[in-house]
Amino acid sequence: MRILVVEDQAKMAQFLKKGLTESGYSVDVAESGLSAESYCSSSEYDLVILDIGLPDQSGIDTARHLRRDGLNAPILMLTALSSTKDKILGLDSGADDYMTKPYAFEELLARVRALLRRQSPSQMSNTKLFFSDLEMDLVLRKVHRAQKEIVLTLKEFSLLEYFMRNPNRPLGRTSIAEHVWDVHFDSESNVIDVYVNMLRKKIDTPFESKLIHTVIGVGYVLKQDESAN
Ligand code: CA
Repeated sequence: MRILVVEDQAKMAQFLKKGLTESGYSVDVAESGLSAESYCSSSEYDLVILDIGLPDQSGIDTARHLRRDGLNAPILMLTALSSTKDKILGLDSGADDYMTKPYAFEELLARVRALLRRQSPSQMSNTKLFFSDLEMDLVLRKVHRAQKEIVLTLKEFSLLEYFMRNPNRPLGRTSIAEHVWDVHFDSESNVIDVYVNMLRKKIDTPFESKLIHTVIGVGYVLKQDESAN
């Protein structure tokens, strides 16, 4: 899941980025309204966290612009203001939820999860993903294959989640990078191949049939091993 944090205070932005990254999200930070608009026009986000007090424009205007430009992802607005009028203005501008600073990070995280679940109920309300004999629990962050627990790092978990949300679909390195890493990812590097290989060692190597397959010239696909059985 990819989140754009729009916050001009570097310290606050880094705090959010660190906390969200540790919770398994890929996070980009925009420091102004215009830069948020440009991030959203060039990448796809699953959620936007938007500070209302930005240096170049009000977060309310930014929310309006993002909606006008076709952003469908939920917007969680952050503000130091707490009057009802501001709240209504924020929600009217296209925000889905609203938090007043200071807030507890745990509460922010709970709202992020709630908004992401609301976003695509068919997929997100399921707390588990299944493919073949693989089972992924998104709430407990546990993975089992053939009833055997497999311990994954945060990145490996995100990578497998992306595969399991797109089974039988060849996934290019660019789209994997976009969904699992942030924009600072160096697409020339072989990081994706390294991570896919680490994931394979855990979910494929100990088992007879392989699930992650290389698609030459494209990337990788999660599918049943046709040569088995
Ligand atoms: Ca601010």
